[in-house]
This record gives sequence, structure tokens and C-alpha cells, in this order.
Amino acid sequence: MSDALFGGVEAGGTKFVCGIGTLSSSDIRRQRIIPTTTPEETIRRVADFFRSGEDVLSGIGVGTFGPVQLNPASPHYGHITSTAKLAWRNFDIRGAILHALGLPIAIDTDVNAAALAEARWGAAKDVGSCLYVTIGTGVGGGAIIDGKVLLGLTHPEMGHIRIPHDMSRDPFPGCCPYHGDCLEGLVSGPALHGRWGVSGEALPDEHPAWRLQAEYLALACMNWICTLSPERIILGGGTVRPHLFPLIRRRASELLNGYIDEAAITQHLDEYIVPSPLGGKAGLLGALALAAQVHLQSKA
Ligand code: ZN
Repeated sequence: MSDALFGGVEAGGTKFVCGIGTLSSSDIRRQRIIPTTTPEETIRRVADFFRSGEDVLSGIGVGTFGPVQLNPASPHYGHITSTAKLAWRNFDIRGAILHALGLPIAIDTDVNAAALAEARWGAAKDVGSCLYVTIGTGVGGGAIIDGKVLLGLTHPEMGHIRIPHDMSRDPFPGCCPYHGDCLEGLVSGPALHGRWGVSGEALPDEHPAWRLQAEYLALACMNWICTLSPERIILGGGTVRPHLFPLIRRRASELLNGYIDEAAITQHLDEYIVPSPLGGKAGLLGALALAAQVHLQSKA
């Protein structure tokens, strides 16, 4: 089992990252990046990658942008749903890859897949539960409990929680097309650009943008700690910088005010709210971990 080969697809709005690996290590054997064009062309190129070479795969995992229907009882299981990328709206991404490759297939959101990778190989490999949140073009979170992704009615949408927004300190109205100043509307890359007029990359560490960013992320962490009680919180994505972590931890500690009397929070917050050690590899590795799950289930 540990040497079985799996395929992983990190399906993103601008690129699909395909790779082949095993569960015994986080090394990727072979990898290809395919630009996201039309669904048909993109999936054809994905299938070409996995068909090339001598590798015999035991399953395919897909961590996809979304929203995506993840209820197996739904006739739209595995379909992208209300995406802004119109060509992909209502596209059956699971069915298309299954049809092209004929292998056992598992699908989840890109962020749930990344959370699985952090639990298996990354910042949460020593604990039984964790929350992984990515803050970039959008904001999304995946929770893992006992090695399984938390799913309910649908996948969680942790980027769209409401947090206090002091309009006198930050008059930017937010940029979420659905909610305005939800968390994503306040801290995503487009939010930074909308508020400050330049991209996040152009803002130096000492810019007041980052203190505000840390404030919002600390508020969000407090909400996630109180609702999910994860044993670790991992923050990744393009608009989280290393210097934000001490600010987020200090503010989260102030906000919690000693209420959650656990050493992880009262004494070891520097090991509790942490950056992603897997970084850009988390999505693809998570897709591989997904593939292994479906393989194990099909053997059970
Ligand atoms: Zn929103």
C-alpha cells in the first residue's frame, strides 16, 4: 500500500497542477502544470499527463476550486457550481476525469485537500485535528478531525464569516460580491488592492495594511477556535506574511482573554497558530492524500 502510486490534481482557476506520488513520502515523482482554459481542453491535457509514462496508478484525487457539490447522493456530485468562471459553471469535473482515466477518484475542495496534506505531512502531523486556512485571491478553510475532512450540508465556507468591521478605522466597504465586508471581503488579495490601491506584494512589512490584516485574522481565529476547537491552526496563502504571525497571536490571545484555558493557547500560541510548512505544495499533496483515501475505502 505504501508504495502504491496515486495521481493528484490541484484544480485551480488559473492552473491545474498534476502530479504522481505515494503515501510513504511527500516527494512528487512527476509533475506538470497545465493552464486552465476551457474545461474540455484542460481535462484532455490532464488525462494526457497521467496516461503518459509507465506509471500504474491506484487512484486519482482532485482538490478543486469551487464551490463544488460534494454530496454523493446529489445528481450533481462532483460538479463545479456557482463559480465566476462561466465556462466551468455546472461542469462535471469529477465525471470528466473519471471518464477520461477510468480510475477510482476522490474529489474535495482545494482547501480541504490542503488541510489533509497538512495533517498527513505538514504542520498538523502530530495532532488529531486541525484547521487550514488559505488567504489569497479568496479565503477558504478546511478542518480535519481524526484524519477526515469536516463536511456537512456542504463544505464549510469559513472565508465568508462575519467579523466586526470598524468603519471609522477601516472605511473600505469590502469586496465580496455576495456579502461585502465578510472576512474574504476584508482580507483577500483583491480586498488589499481595493483598500490600498496597490497589490499586497507591493505593500512593505511596516505598512499599516498588515496591522489591520492581523486584526481581522485574529478575530477570525478567535471565532474558529471557539466554534471548531482545532488542535492547530495553519495559515497559508499569498496575503499572509511571516511578520503577521506574532501580531495575530498577540491579538488572538487578547481577544480570547484567558477564556479557553488550554496550554496550547495560553502558553504555546506560537506553536498553535502557524504558517504552512508545505506552502505551495499543500494543494497537490492533498490531492494525493485524497486519492489514497478513496483507494483505502474501495479496498475495505
Ligand atoms: Zn463573502
